[in-house]
Amino acid sequence: MSERISVMITAEQIAARVRELGAQITKDYKDRSLVLVGVLKGSFVFAADLARAIDLPLRIDFLGVRSYGEGTESSGVVQITHDLSKPISNEDVLFVEDIVDTGLTIAHLVDLFRTRNPRSVKVCSLLHKPARAKVSVNVDYLGFTIEDKFVIGYGLDFAEKYRNLPYIGVVERD
Ligand code: 5GP
Repeated sequence: MSERISVMITAEQIAARVRELGAQITKDYKDRSLVLVGVLKGSFVFAADLARAIDLPLRIDFLGVRSYGEGTESSGVVQITHDLSKPISNEDVLFVEDIVDTGLTIAHLVDLFRTRNPRSVKVCSLLHKPARAKVSVNVDYLGFTIEDKFVIGYGLDFAEKYRNLPYIGVVERD
């Protein structure tokens, strides 16, 4: 089986949207105690670009998660494989996600983090596939709404490959 990749969102389109999101977040979190929490592995590229588009003295931390599910479908049972390096009590947490698909992963993480007494918890996701939603998730900052296709690149993988593509692509199987 060979794989062809078609471009869905170009690097330039991503960069422009990340700048807009960064400017909005800068405005909204002025004088707050912002902690970006990148959800690994998929968000590492987006988190790095978004952090540099925000003009605030923020902290950045990462959360490793593993979702148990059938194939590419997540089950909502999320195991933390790598926890934050510091507590988040009284801080303004902004989750940075690559994609909200069924919504189960981020819904679980938001519920879990609320028990850690942060001042606030919000969600920033580069992509959202509303067609696949299983739970309703409030995505406070959203890059792009996309149709129901399996996407790769800009942090997102296909069997651990393609995370380094500078654009969002779709694998076409021949
Ligand atoms: P959810 O719990 O919202 O269904 O799944 C979220 C996670 O599933 C994402 O963080 C991502 O790791 C993975 N995922 C969902 N859709 C896609 C996709 O189209 N492409 C890739 N590479 N991963 C996806």
